[in-house]
Amino acid sequence: MSSQPLVIGKFSLGMGDRFAHEAEAQLAACVAAKKLGVEIVPVWNKSNREHNIIGSEPTSTRAAADAAVKTLGWTAPYFLDADHIGLKTVERFVGVSDFFTIDVADFIAQPADPAAVKAFVDRHPELVGTITLAGIDRPFTTTSADVERTAAKFLLAVQEAGKVYRHIATVKGVGRFVPEISMDETDSPQTPPELLVILAAIADEGVPIQTIAPKFTGRFNKGVDYVGDLAQFEREFNDDLCVIAHAVKQYGLPANLKLSVHSGSDKFSIYPAIRRALAKHGAGVHVKTAGTTWLEEVIGLAEAGGAGLALAKEIYAEALSHMDELCQPYATVIDIDRSKLPAAAIVNGWTSEQFVGALRHDQKNPLYNANIRQLIHVGFKVAAKMGPRYLEQLKACRESCARNVTGNLFDRHIKPLFL
Ligand SMILES: [Zn+2]
Repeated sequence: MSSQPLVIGKFSLGMGDRFAHEAEAQLAACVAAKKLGVEIVPVWNKSNREHNIIGSEPTSTRAAADAAVKTLGWTAPYFLDADHIGLKTVERFVGVSDFFTIDVADFIAQPADPAAVKAFVDRHPELVGTITLAGIDRPFTTTSADVERTAAKFLLAVQEAGKVYRHIATVKGVGRFVPEISMDETDSPQTPPELLVILAAIADEGVPIQTIAPKFTGRFNKGVDYVGDLAQFEREFNDDLCVIAHAVKQYGLPANLKLSVHSGSDKFSIYPAIRRALAKHGAGVHVKTAGTTWLEEVIGLAEAGGAGLALAKEIYAEALSHMDELCQPYATVIDIDRSKLPAAAIVNGWTSEQFVGALRHDQKNPLYNANIRQLIHVGFKVAAKMGPRYLEQLKACRESCARNVTGNLFDRHIKPLFL
């Protein structure tokens, strides 16, 4: 085993492969980028929740990723992300994963020990007053009460992240995995001044994070475009990059520490802002995608016509009739207007072109329907229940599924962000 610590490169793309059939098609998008001179590190991510819904184990993700890497002769680094894990769920990932998204959102705003909060404030007089950061025009002005309030809100979450990190490190060894801390699955976004306090606390806790996933301003709904104030997003994203660069120097965090954009697929309207910010600051980023690949599988089935199209229609009909159950785990990250969902009988009469047009994320196409897209996005349990019948159709429609998976990641994600 090499003694070099595992370090994730500047640009990385999280990719979800719900049914473990698309790793090669996904990796092909990174291969295409590499041919054009940009290395995008592939990171296969699958959360505990996804494994539970599908009934799969992390070992299947590892097998699929390793096979794809071998087939395509990928010699650059790649990772397997135990996505959104905590102490209760990390165990089955520890052996096979080398990237851990430590999710502590549930601990935000839970009361931290007042003595620990006071000790934090006392230890960090530099966080109080006027803080001028390179790259930010307006300095942050904070009082010690502000810092105390922020520390009280986030300290318990950071301490929890420390516990999870140390547990993984005990098993795998320090430097044998990439740690990320995520705080995105919560109600309110973290502001750049809050991010600074959070990073100081993470450094105190001794977690050498390489990526951090805050909740950004605006809506990051599953599989559809960003909804929010574009100018505010761009300003805060830039400020976050400056905060990270500052925290790396001030608190000795890993030099490659970068932002991780969760639910990052399909957020086409903010990609130009992200791209500008990365270029301006010379920063890296991790963009996490997941269900966008599953949607391309369904598009591939529909495009193939025949039995593939019939199965895609069946998935829609089933998802429609189990909408409440399917939406419940994702309630905070979808906005479905039920009045815009056509009846199953109508969709059953659709051609391939109509079905693909409704589902493919092309906002210029008048057939595009963001409500159908979000419903199918959360509807993968329907395909999981179909079991071998779904997987056999995936194999039968391999060409169109793979072509759509690769094209989506390369043309709609990698190109606008990185090329
Ligand atoms: Zn997330």
